[in-house]
Amino acid sequence: MKRAFKTKRLWLDIVAMLIVVLCAVCFVACGDNHTHSYVDYVYNDDATCVADGTETGKCKYCDKTHTRKSESHPATGEHEYFQYLCYDCNKIDPAAPYTEGLEYTEIKDNEQTVGYSVTGRGNTGYNKYIKIPSEYNGLPVTTIGNEAFSGSAMLSVMIPDSVTSIGDGAFASCYMLNGVDIPNSVTYIGLWAFQNCSQLIDVTIPNSVTTVGWKAFDCMRLKYTEYKNGLYLGNADNPYYVLISVKNESVSSFVINGNTKIIADLAFKYCRSLTAVKIPDSVTNMGRGTFYSCKSLKTVNIGSSVTDIGEYVFRYCNSLKNVGFNGTTVQWESIPKSDTWNFGSAIKTVVCTDGKITL
Ligand SMILES: [Zn+2]
Ligand SMILES: [Zn+2]
Repeated sequence: MKRAFKTKRLWLDIVAMLIVVLCAVCFVACGDNHTHSYVDYVYNDDATCVADGTETGKCKYCDKTHTRKSESHPATGEHEYFQYLCYDCNKIDPAAPYTEGLEYTEIKDNEQTVGYSVTGRGNTGYNKYIKIPSEYNGLPVTTIGNEAFSGSAMLSVMIPDSVTSIGDGAFASCYMLNGVDIPNSVTYIGLWAFQNCSQLIDVTIPNSVTTVGWKAFDCMRLKYTEYKNGLYLGNADNPYYVLISVKNESVSSFVINGNTKIIADLAFKYCRSLTAVKIPDSVTNMGRGTFYSCKSLKTVNIGSSVTDIGEYVFRYCNSLKNVGFNGTTVQWESIPKSDTWNFGSAIKTVVCTDGKITL
């Protein structure tokens, strides 16, 4: 009896000790306080032509994982073309033939045909990509027509550097499109030009662009550059090239990035609580309806580099009685402005550095 009791007691001690040890291990391993130690990194098989590969490791003590750049699998740096399209990034092979059978419309200047606008896919049927030639009938292709390719299932488009204008809705709802290079010849990007291109993730706006239409890049997955509540698109030299829109319309003040050149059409539309904005000296173009219906706006200072002021910039700005201009009265008079730039606002005076202009 006594012996059996002793054995039982010993067993209880062992179990108790085991529980203590297990708890100690658990505290180190499962508690939030341990330092994760990641091991057994496995390559994710995701290196592409433009993106370095990644690898993921697992913590020795818990379920947490960690993903890092894989030193052994850098980006290939080269496109891998299959049927003229890169597997990874949908870039079109420079050796690809031009798409035949596109529709063209003559562009006339004083009865004379001076170029062509490409206006549709014509009889080309389904294309994985569209490669637009720079010439048609011996004349330059300068325009992508309004809605020319809207709703197409193409993955990629190559726009030649003869093109200066991308029309309204030209590529709207091209729901598969994720490869597009806008050449450094384009000045005008129309209303809704790339709206609802839900696979478009990156786009570069070259320094040639002067107009970006309303909702031209209203795309679900597109990556903007953010700066103090503003959404911008641009290029490697200047990621803040175009102010596209205001992220949160209920703000009362807004600071435009000091490198911004272009303000897209209707960028501040319905910012009804906005009271003051300074347009930096970097800005050259103020789009159509920039401050449309900014009913609380009381102070606007326009920078000295503005060379174009669009239509209805201050429409329904009922609280705005004067605007400031960071230049002389002579400079102000020389800026090309739409006849309707101050239409529907309360603006009576432009305050320049050397005096006032009464409207
Ligand atoms: Zn851990
Ligand atoms: Zn590629």
